[in-house]
Order: sequence, then C-alpha cells, then structure tokens
Amino acid sequence: MNMLSQKANQGVSLRKINYIMAAVSLLISLFFLFAVHRLAADYNELRELTQTYDDLKDSASELQAASDYLTEQARIFAMTGKRDYLDNYFREAEVVQRREHALERLQDHAEVADAYESLKDAMEGSVELMESEYLSMRLTILAYGLQLSEFPEAVRNVQLPEKYLNMSRSNQVDMARLLVINEVYCEKKEAISENMRRCLDDLMQEMHERQAMGENELRVLIEHLQIMVFVLIGIVLLRILITSHLVIGPLLTGVLYIREGQQLPIQGAYELRFLAHTYNQMYRENKAQTELLTFEAEHDKLTGVYNRSGYDHLLESIDVPSSALLLVDVDKFKSVNDTYGHKIGDKALVRVAAALQENFRSGDYICRIGGDEFAVIMKNTNAERKTQIERKVTRINEKLQSPPAGQPPLSISAGCAFGISPNGTGTIDKDADVALYRVKENGRCGCAFYE
Ligand code: GH3
Ligand code: MG
Repeated sequence: MNMLSQKANQGVSLRKINYIMAAVSLLISLFFLFAVHRLAADYNELRELTQTYDDLKDSASELQAASDYLTEQARIFAMTGKRDYLDNYFREAEVVQRREHALERLQDHAEVADAYESLKDAMEGSVELMESEYLSMRLTILAYGLQLSEFPEAVRNVQLPEKYLNMSRSNQVDMARLLVINEVYCEKKEAISENMRRCLDDLMQEMHERQAMGENELRVLIEHLQIMVFVLIGIVLLRILITSHLVIGPLLTGVLYIREGQQLPIQGAYELRFLAHTYNQMYRENKAQTELLTFEAEHDKLTGVYNRSGYDHLLESIDVPSSALLLVDVDKFKSVNDTYGHKIGDKALVRVAAALQENFRSGDYICRIGGDEFAVIMKNTNAERKTQIERKVTRINEKLQSPPAGQPPLSISAGCAFGISPNGTGTIDKDADVALYRVKENGRCGCAFYE
C-alpha cells in the first residue's frame, strides 16, 4: 500500500488543488467584500466632503454678506438718521452674528486653515470698519439730535473729536455719511472682499485637491476590483482545465482500457493515479489467478504435461495440415499395476511422460490423454520426418526398458499420422489411432504411420 502511495505521489493532488483554489477564492471574496465596503465608504466620504465644502463656502459668503449688511445699515442710518437701521445693524452685529458663526465653522475644520486665516483677516477688516461706523453713528445721533442714552453702549462710548463737535449740523450729517463712504472706508471694504475671495479660492482649491485624492483612491480601488475579477475568472478557467486534463480525460481513457481488458495507464491527478495503481495490482493478481486456474485446468497433475482438455484445446488451435500427431499407449500397463502396485504404476507414467519430453522438441506438445495414453502434437512436421519420429520412439523404448532400481521395465506403442494424408479418414487423431492399433496388433513396442 505504501509503495502504491509513493508511486501515485508523482501526480498532482486534486484535493490539494481544491484546497488551494478554495483558499484563494475565499481570500479574493473577502477582499471583494472589503473593497466594496471601502468603495461605499469612500463614495460617502467624497459626497460628504463636497457637502462640507459647499457649507463652508456658504458660511464664508455669509461673512461677506453680514459685513455688507452692516455697511449698508450704517450708511442708511447716516443718511436718514432713522433708528431702525441702527437697530438692524446691532441685531446683526450682536445677536445674529453671522460673521462670528462663519468664522467658528471654519475654525472647526483644521484642513481649511488657509481659508480660515483669510476669513479671519476679513473679519478683522470688518471689525476695523466698525470703528468708522460707530463714529459715523455717534455723529449722526448728534447731528439729528437723537437721545444718546437710548443707543447701544458701543455707540455711547464713542468719543467724538473736537472738530466734529464744532461743526454745523448739516456738516455733521455730511461728515457722518463721509465716514462710511470715504476712500479709506472703501479701501478697507475692498480689503475685506479681497480676503473673502482668497478664502473662497482656498476653499475651492482645497476641495478640488480633496476630491482629486478621493477620486484617485476610488480609481485604484476599482482597478484592484477589476484585477480580482480577472483572477476569479482565471481560477474558474483553471478549474475547468484541471478537471478536464487531470480527471475527465484520464477517466474516459481509463474506461476504454477497462473495456479492452488492459491495465490502466498511470495518468491524471494523484487520486486517479492511486486508483489506477490499485486497479492494476488487482488486475495482475486476478490475471495470475486466472492463468493458474487455466494451467491447472489444462495440465495433468501427475505428470505435469497437458491433460485431455489441454490436448483438445491444442488440437483445435493448431494448423493441422502442417502438423503431425503421435498417439502413444503403454504396453500391458494393467499388469504393471497388478504386479508393482498403483503407486509404482503412477511413477511409471511419470517416466513415460519424462521420456517423451526429453526426446521430442520443446515446441512439441506432450499430453496425457487417458490412463496410460499419451499424445505428441508436432507442429511444422510432415512425412519427411518419419524416420526421425521412429528413432525417437525407439530411443524412448530403450530408455524405458532399463528402469531405475525398483521400477518395472516398460515399452510403448506409438501410432503417427500427418495432417496431410491422401488416404486419411478425415481426422488426424483417428488416423493416428488406426496406426497405433496396428502396432498393438503387431506385437507392441514400436511405431507405425498411417498410410
Ligand atoms: P495394452 O498393451 O493393450 O494397452 O494393455 P494394457 O494393459 O495397457 O491395457 P489398457 O491400455 O487398456 O490399460 C490401461 C490401464 O491403465 C488400466 C488402468 O489400470 C491403468 N491406469 C489407468 N489410469 C491409471 C493411473 O492413473 N495410474 C495407474 N497406476 N494406472 C492407471
Ligand atoms: Mg495400454
């Protein structure tokens, strides 16, 4: 069994291949799950990122809008002296606080530090502007003769320069307006806008960079997925190839060999090779057994030469016209048995068989066809060999006449016929029997040919 395993070892193990492929497929499937999960996560991240940047952009724009709103309300207040506008201004600056909220929102996102700095600068510019606006408001209150105590503390605390106090009311009104529209104010306003633009540009650039990174990650992931799909297709094709090359092919060939009654070729996967080795070993054992049974069925146990059944079989299979048949009968064998006993009689039969084997060719068939009857089938023999056959019989008789100690002397009578016999009875064995009968009639211990 070990030897068989070692021999069969040369093949590729299907079981191992299956395990390996299953492991690879499992790994790829796990990678697939992971990749799909990542893909979904990356996509969501990208979407959220875009959303976040949109929000940040809106927030940043809010600062500009709030700053413009404050300027607008300060200017209208300076022009009209109506309290509502100043209230609007302070609601925005102290309650709604869009600018502060915008700044806070950007501050929460460390990744947009540059944009935050620009927005902070814009905010500082806006706060700086408020000084001019407060001054303008304070001057407007004075110019319109409004009750200062009713206004917010930030305005109340403004100290008006001497030069404004000494002005006429209409000049004060003009100066209050000028303070929120003059060149210095407008330059500061422009600086705020510039910082806002920079902030928005920074945000835009940052968003594009992030999106590009995200898209790149997605692309790499999709490329990996594509490769894995190809690997999976490859595994499927490899499985088909392996199955047909290592299993189906050898199986179909094996069936043909079994039908032909032959041993299986050792091919294919390890498991099939193992099967073929086992089958072949059983085949050989079976064949040897059959051959032994066939041998026993066609050979005589006592003498070892062919028996009657073997003789019949041989006679059917030979080319009779090119063959000769010699029928042999031991003379007066009954009396041998009677005088020496059955055991010695058996030994005598063995001696006769041995003498026949010694004197005829190895290619001639020696058979024991009855109790003391033998036959010699000679292939490729014709009447030209009569003398030789006669001499052989004479030699055999000479030998049988001088037995070993304790054995009886023997003689044989032999009748010979050839396959081609013009006067033959039709069958070679009958012709040989006729010839044998003639020898028996003529006093035995000799050889005659069917004429
Ligand atoms: P003939 O010269 O006319 O042949 O005389 P025979 O006595 O030999 O007569 P036959 O051939 O008819 O006798 C054959 C004898 O062979 C009969 C039987 O006792 C004996 N015999 C047959 N088979 C065996 C055997 O297996 N062993 C022994 N010892 N004797 C056998
Ligand atoms: Mg006899």
